[in-house]
Amino acid sequence: MKTHEPLAETGAGPDPAQSIRNLFQEYVIPSYGRFDLVFTRGAGSYLWDVHGRRYLDLGSGIAVCCLGHSHPAIVETLARQASRLIHVSNLYYHELQGRLAEALVHRIEPGKCFFANSGAEANEGLFKLARRFGHDEGRFEILTAIQSFHGRTLAGIAATGQDKVKKGFEPMTPGFRHVPFNDLEAVRAALSPATVAVMIEGVQGEGGITPAAPEYLLGLRRLCDEHRLLLLMDGVQCGHYRTGRFQSFQRILETVDGGNGFCPDGISMAKSLAGGFPMGAFWVRKPHADRLGPGTHASTFGGTPLACSVALTVLEVIQREKLDERARQTGAWLREQLEGLRQKHVGLIRAVRGLGLMVGIELEPGAPAFVRAAKPAAAVVVQALQREGVLTIPAGSQVVRLLPPLNLQASEAQEGIERIDKVLSQLHS
Ligand SMILES: *Cc1c(COP(=O)(O)O)cnc(C)c1O
Repeated sequence: MKTHEPLAETGAGPDPAQSIRNLFQEYVIPSYGRFDLVFTRGAGSYLWDVHGRRYLDLGSGIAVCCLGHSHPAIVETLARQASRLIHVSNLYYHELQGRLAEALVHRIEPGKCFFANSGAEANEGLFKLARRFGHDEGRFEILTAIQSFHGRTLAGIAATGQDKVKKGFEPMTPGFRHVPFNDLEAVRAALSPATVAVMIEGVQGEGGITPAAPEYLLGLRRLCDEHRLLLLMDGVQCGHYRTGRFQSFQRILETVDGGNGFCPDGISMAKSLAGGFPMGAFWVRKPHADRLGPGTHASTFGGTPLACSVALTVLEVIQREKLDERARQTGAWLREQLEGLRQKHVGLIRAVRGLGLMVGIELEPGAPAFVRAAKPAAAVVVQALQREGVLTIPAGSQVVRLLPPLNLQASEAQEGIERIDKVLSQLHS
């Protein structure tokens, strides 16, 4: 066997999936709880497993493959740019990083961008920005929300408002405290002389698809201005047009009085940014944009020509195909259909919520089908859907997330709803 010849195509052993799982068992650190699926190929909204079975992918990675799998424009850009220039050190300039920064800034407000490789790293940069901002006054503390998720680095788990990510890794990086989400008074009450910033997600993703209330965002902005705090938004999952606008706060505030004047001081991005090619970034609003001067922050791989060219292509396709509008419409349709299923399958679904193509189905954990299964309701539904050829993503124990590609076809959305309907019917019997 040649080194890279896929096991799946060599007919190695009677069950290629088993051979691949064996490799993981033997050689891959078991830090993930993986579902028992082995994928070999993707196209558009579909993935194929090692047995040739097709799955409708309503998770698109975890909100990563925003144009679906192996979009021709991404494939073409990767090939073209790879043959021209893959990497150049940040010791030098190259055009694509400048052009991508410009494209991102134009979608927010005057400011500047830094490029990294993941969401955790993008947040890390914002934490460093906040520390730098407060350093000479001895301020360093960042408030984040309970049920938030900000990544798995040491600062990321300290910032994340969920105990399960911290357990076993204490002592935590100091300087983070958590307050209830969507509760302005809780933020006010938690302020200390050391507080320097507040970070929230516009729509909590891992926490179960919970959008920030418009008055919460506006109130936070006022509070941060009053106390000279940076307002930082983690847009890693909810950003990049998933909610129907480039950033979720633009969507949440679009019809709200005074909403147009709102802007955070920093925004982190990753997941959909390069449509599946690894990339992270953070944007910093103008008055703070030069705070991280030469020598203060760096990344070897951040903003390579290859990553930037793909990110620019993703933005072009979204704009050309008006995928912001599509995300909004398809999302509204999915939520309406799911609301119908909630009423049809009495007692299984507690609530359907979300914004654009960030859709959460909160299950009723006390339903007999879930109690009988003796595992979390979200896992029961996600696995039942996998058996029906549909991929979704659990958020905690009782929310199932749909984060499909922004270009999900109407017929694919229909297919998803039909299969969810079927699975819910099975859970009744
Ligand atoms: C996924 C995610 C992160 C972490 O991103 P990585 O690329 O896995 O480091 C941070 N914040 C939010 C809101 C996320 O959804």
